[in-house]
Amino acid sequence: MKPLVVEKAQAGSWLRKLCQEFDVFGPVETKKGFYNWKRLDGTIVPHIPQGVAKVSIKTFFFPQPEVMFEFDARPTDPEAFRPIEPHCDFNPRVLFGVRPCDARSVALNAMPYREDPYFQRKRKETTIVAFLCEEGCLTCFCTLTGGSPVGIEGADMAVTELETGFFLEPVTEKGLRLLDYEFFRKPTAQEKSIAQERKKGAQKSVEDTASKLRSKDLMDLYNAHFWAAVAESCINCGACTFLCPTCYCFDIQDEALRGKGRRIRYWDSCMFPLFTQHASGHNPRGEKLKRVRNRFMHKLKYFPDRFGPISCVGCGRCVRDCPVNIDIRQVMEGLMEV
Ligand code: SF4
Ligand code: SF4
Repeated sequence: MKPLVVEKAQAGSWLRKLCQEFDVFGPVETKKGFYNWKRLDGTIVPHIPQGVAKVSIKTFFFPQPEVMFEFDARPTDPEAFRPIEPHCDFNPRVLFGVRPCDARSVALNAMPYREDPYFQRKRKETTIVAFLCEEGCLTCFCTLTGGSPVGIEGADMAVTELETGFFLEPVTEKGLRLLDYEFFRKPTAQEKSIAQERKKGAQKSVEDTASKLRSKDLMDLYNAHFWAAVAESCINCGACTFLCPTCYCFDIQDEALRGKGRRIRYWDSCMFPLFTQHASGHNPRGEKLKRVRNRFMHKLKYFPDRFGPISCVGCGRCVRDCPVNIDIRQVMEGLMEV
């Protein structure tokens, strides 16, 4: 698909058109240096910060909470427990200014969620406009996890910011659809060469961490000597899992009131003791060490053994916001040495 350019002076008009047709969201600075995803109304072209927003885009694919459907819940008639209305209450939308690591997280999450109609419907209705990174920030490390600052996995359109405008490369038909307006021109030879040079200059994936970890024996990694040391300081707050774009575990609860029931899906975390608590009272991951080990083993061994890549895109949110400075990069190094 051929790239086009929108001049900076025209970008606002393009965004306004998009806002008329889609629900458009972008990272907005809500406090100094603190970006979060907000609905855009087309009055401003948001400044896309280097690095990722505080909250990942998983909130668009796994809302917190998510009503899955309503059901008839008259307790006197057990036969009446039938779903009556599946819910999917959202409009087609555009996520504008996604960084490549977050875009890639959607492609990774689609592997275990390939048969989940809620996730798949949201993915179908969402167009991801990825802004390629010029350079990484201190706490991100996409190149250690199979990604790249200029990666397009999971994106529908890739954007390179130039001095005068934005170099737009549609990746999918959904991305191409966003160029269906009159604001664009063909790129000049110089603009094409700048965009290409940026990509050449950006560091590509340097470590094939996934295949190295796949080749290691599962039980050797499971019994590695350092798990107690890693887990010691963890307070099981769950911040790492809630902020992580590739953590997707959930709990389901049914609520019933006056004969009407709702099935609701909430985010859950393997760092919480109740996550694995059985009805009998037994808890196979009752100790903190087992929970911490599970989080890392899932991302770095169980997921790649099953799907191929590791389940981490190197966004660095867990490193940045863990209150006790637990760093997945150090755990990766430790596992590589086993
Ligand atoms: S953010 Fe840090 S302290 Fe909190 S659960 Fe995760 S690893 Fe443990
Ligand atoms: S594990 Fe940490 S660095 Fe990796 S994707 Fe999750 S939050 Fe980002």
